[in-house]
Amino acid sequence: MELDKTSASQPAENPKRTPPSLKVENNNNCLNIEIDGDFDRISNEVTSKSVALGLIGQIVSLGSWGKRLDEKAANFAIGFLDAMKPEDAAEALLFTQMAATHQAMMMMAQKLNHITSIQQQDAAERAMNKLARTYAAQMETIKRYRSKGQQTVRVERVTVESGGQAVVGNVSHERGGGGAMKGDASPMHLAPRCTAKSKRSGLPCKSPAVRGWEVCRMHGAKGGHKSGHGHPQYRHGGRSHDIEATRKLITALARDARNHLGDMDH
Ligand SMILES: [Zn+2]
Repeated sequence: MELDKTSASQPAENPKRTPPSLKVENNNNCLNIEIDGDFDRISNEVTSKSVALGLIGQIVSLGSWGKRLDEKAANFAIGFLDAMKPEDAAEALLFTQMAATHQAMMMMAQKLNHITSIQQQDAAERAMNKLARTYAAQMETIKRYRSKGQQTVRVERVTVESGGQAVVGNVSHERGGGGAMKGDASPMHLAPRCTAKSKRSGLPCKSPAVRGWEVCRMHGAKGGHKSGHGHPQYRHGGRSHDIEATRKLITALARDARNHLGDMDH
């Protein structure tokens, strides 16, 4: 029988589990931290015990002011960390930071209720905005971090001939984070360019050309009337581009012929 990995690594939630909690005391300038409940999710071989202990220390000082300690704030952070089930030390740190971000934001929200000046209001609002954006960014980071092992398998075309085998594997890997870099050839950069030259600088225009044209909008694309019968000034066609070109050719040939005749006179 195959071992079901998901059920093996994630045992069913124990309903009798006591969530972790902290009791903090300031005893003659000596910080006493009493820990209670199940700390296994926060402190285990994956997240590293020493990291967890350090985090607990930092969490306790979170929200504390001088000798005053904020046990509620510490337990809020511990509870959040526990609920998020960090899978390694980096996740444990990020979740702690998220709890801190959230608490700072709530502190600002509370401040907004007791504001006496416009400047204070502006400052609190700005801080709240920043913290809200930070939280969203942290959320995004953890989402990306947790999906680090997953690769996108895109199958463009699979042809299987008789007797052959089709292998569908990691055809393409998802690009790691971030958008396209500057200088990357994006489809937009590969669009045909305007062939016109700038009258002012003499350099090629380089703007994207209008579809079906060799020039951009500014250099005449889509402008003007259709040539030939479609042109509103069309009368008899005797002055059309083709006829004019032919006429010029005939004139040039005639001039040539005259010059040759003149040469022959001597
Ligand atoms: Zn142009």
